[in-house]
Amino acid sequence: MTSTTAFFLRREDLIHLLEELSGTVEVVAPVLVWDEAAFATWRGEALALDDKNPLASPVEFFLPKKEVLFRYVQYSGRYTFSEDPPKARLIFGMRACDLRALKVIDGIFGADLSDLPYASKRRSTIIVALNCTSPGEGCFCRSMGSGPVAEEGYDLLLTDLGRGYLVEAGSPAGVYILRAHHRHFEEADPEDIKEKGRLLALAEEKMIKRGPFPNPEKIREAIDGADWEEAGRRCLACGGCSFVCPVCHCFSVLDQGVPDGERLRCRDSCILSGFSRMTSGANPRPDPGERLRHWYLDKFLYIPEKTGLFGCVGCGRCSRVCLGEADRWSFFKEATE
Ligand code: SF4
Ligand code: SF4
Repeated sequence: MTSTTAFFLRREDLIHLLEELSGTVEVVAPVLVWDEAAFATWRGEALALDDKNPLASPVEFFLPKKEVLFRYVQYSGRYTFSEDPPKARLIFGMRACDLRALKVIDGIFGADLSDLPYASKRRSTIIVALNCTSPGEGCFCRSMGSGPVAEEGYDLLLTDLGRGYLVEAGSPAGVYILRAHHRHFEEADPEDIKEKGRLLALAEEKMIKRGPFPNPEKIREAIDGADWEEAGRRCLACGGCSFVCPVCHCFSVLDQGVPDGERLRCRDSCILSGFSRMTSGANPRPDPGERLRHWYLDKFLYIPEKTGLFGCVGCGRCSRVCLGEADRWSFFKEATE
């Protein structure tokens, strides 16, 4: 068995495979939570794979909304610190857009001074990705070059062929799973590989006219020329767009408890009015429009400067939650194509 060989997994065997894997690692997969698909610890329930990509990205398992960085205990004026060891985890069903988001975050949290809590979760997590054969209506990953086909960043990749899954390994950990659980896999038929190509070409075709195709040379001009006052009037500054975005990663740090307690990292957002407010009360970005402008600058100029990749992967989640029903992409589409 080599990493370049493709295998076939029968539909009914997927659950058996996950059951076996959950004996050694925590398996996280999309399931229904309050009738909505969400990534959660899998406990044998039905998988929610036919739904849209869950609103909360699996990237949150690497960069949670709230996490304990370490605990501190004070004794006789001296502090001792302790951290939880990382959990061995397997995330099943991650799509191409979220894989790209993780690559962008790697370029920020893994570069220069590596962020240890993030790096240890990356090291202890296996990713089983799923190619998007029926992208959601608001998705425009193809325009951003991040999907719908997953090309990197996974240990195993599955493509739903209807009667079962085509399975390919993308890392030694993926090859190990194929070997250790070989009784569930059979060598794929050349027709299965052709079928994968046909389904993914169809998925790409569906997305041809969606979203902006950002032309790096026109981005600055598009941002400078946009009517941010008008955009700001539609924005309720709820922060939803930022909290569902798999690439947004701003955080604040808070010590909870004196003299003993824990240091927390909590997600924050530049869209919120208090984000850049200083102790004096001065705020360089008091208006929602100015904050939205900064959001676009970050995604399309600052993050690419640092990582070489756009800070948007075209998952469409921000438009799904926007209370102001702001069409986040119309001005950008015309100006950057
Ligand atoms: S900006 Fe919107 S479409 Fe782009 S990655 Fe973030 S949530 Fe997805
Ligand atoms: S989700 Fe919409 S209304 Fe809420 S902060 Fe973002 S742009 Fe503004």
